[in-house]
Amino acid sequence: MSFREGPVDVNLLERWLRPDVAAMDPYTPIVPFEVLSRRLGLPPERIIKLDANENPYGPSPRVRDALARYDRYHVYPDPEQRLLREALTRYVEMPFEQILVGHGSDELIDLLMRLFLEPGDRVVNCPPTFGMYAFDTAINQGKLVNVPRRTDFSLDLGGIEAAVTGGDGGRPAKLLFLCSPNNPDGSVVPASVLRRLLDLPLIIVLDEAYAEFAGQSYASWVREHPNLVVLRTFSKWAGLAGLRVGYGLFPRWMMPHLWKVKQPYNVNVAGTVAALASLEDIAYLQENVARIVAERERLYQALRSIPYLEPYPSQANFVLCRVVGRDAQALKRSLEREGILVRYFDKPGLQDHIRISVGKPEETDRLLEALGARQAVRDRQPVTRDRSRR
Ligand SMILES: *Cc1c(COP(=O)(O)O)cnc(C)c1O
Repeated sequence: MSFREGPVDVNLLERWLRPDVAAMDPYTPIVPFEVLSRRLGLPPERIIKLDANENPYGPSPRVRDALARYDRYHVYPDPEQRLLREALTRYVEMPFEQILVGHGSDELIDLLMRLFLEPGDRVVNCPPTFGMYAFDTAINQGKLVNVPRRTDFSLDLGGIEAAVTGGDGGRPAKLLFLCSPNNPDGSVVPASVLRRLLDLPLIIVLDEAYAEFAGQSYASWVREHPNLVVLRTFSKWAGLAGLRVGYGLFPRWMMPHLWKVKQPYNVNVAGTVAALASLEDIAYLQENVARIVAERERLYQALRSIPYLEPYPSQANFVLCRVVGRDAQALKRSLEREGILVRYFDKPGLQDHIRISVGKPEETDRLLEALGARQAVRDRQPVTRDRSRR
């Protein structure tokens, strides 16, 4: 065996890194719950997590039962995901052949890029939006073409059309990523806009992670449009973010090629069991979705009454606010010291904004109190708080 002989020159090995990866900024994920709890000196149950659009009600109780009962964790999952895809045909009313499940919809974003992008191929992105489209484009050596949204977060149609046809003499764009409802503002892509964009000669990937909260979806459009992909997930409405189950609805011609590039065992059995149990308890989960939607409206109205906040109407499970006359990052930090986590984005177009996920009513009350809102309380007693805990 020779591989242990002699000192290995790490500098030489480092030069083997892909230059684009070596030069890349690291991805900054949000601070994990346990770490933050320790840093703030607050027990986990005092922390109100409104920073990642997770479902405050968690999964269906049937998920826990199904996971406890399942007895084949030692066996590899079905690479063709038959049971879950069959169950999904009923839920999304799409043909079995056009559904593919991912380790979260995040995996499917990467999978699409691995399928279509050669180095330098163009991807159109409409920020402010979900960061993974830009992240995965960089990893896959694509060329990101940003067409910023207008200040009201609506899409710049003319700008997108110009970017698609390759105005700079480069190759035409292959992929356009859209998010509806859009993360972070919660607005939906209007049908007329989507119809017009579908006339463009490129593939539109429509990320509908929050469709259940909007009560509308363009999934059925995938039947008629060979250039439309719709991505959905169990992370938000079904409360399975930690188990990583997303799925896509793809045009028929694309499916054989997706199967070729997918990792055979990409979706683990726990995620599959949990997703199947969720689809057997849709009524329960929809009640929680309805609770979140009602709470979103209460939160939005209460935020409107706060002089230094301008909330945007949202169709998702979060509300974006412009912070006026105050430093948004400082506001995020001061909420954090109270154990309330919201999202601040240090990105163009969002520097004076915070995004608040919709929590349970009592969590909204504590948030509003911390924000100094007058309308903090609906039909409940004011929340009394022990100030000494700080
Ligand atoms: C949360 C979110 C997802 C979910 O991704 P998963 O990998 O399925 O958890 C996808 N897209 C957007 C825009 C999101 O905000």
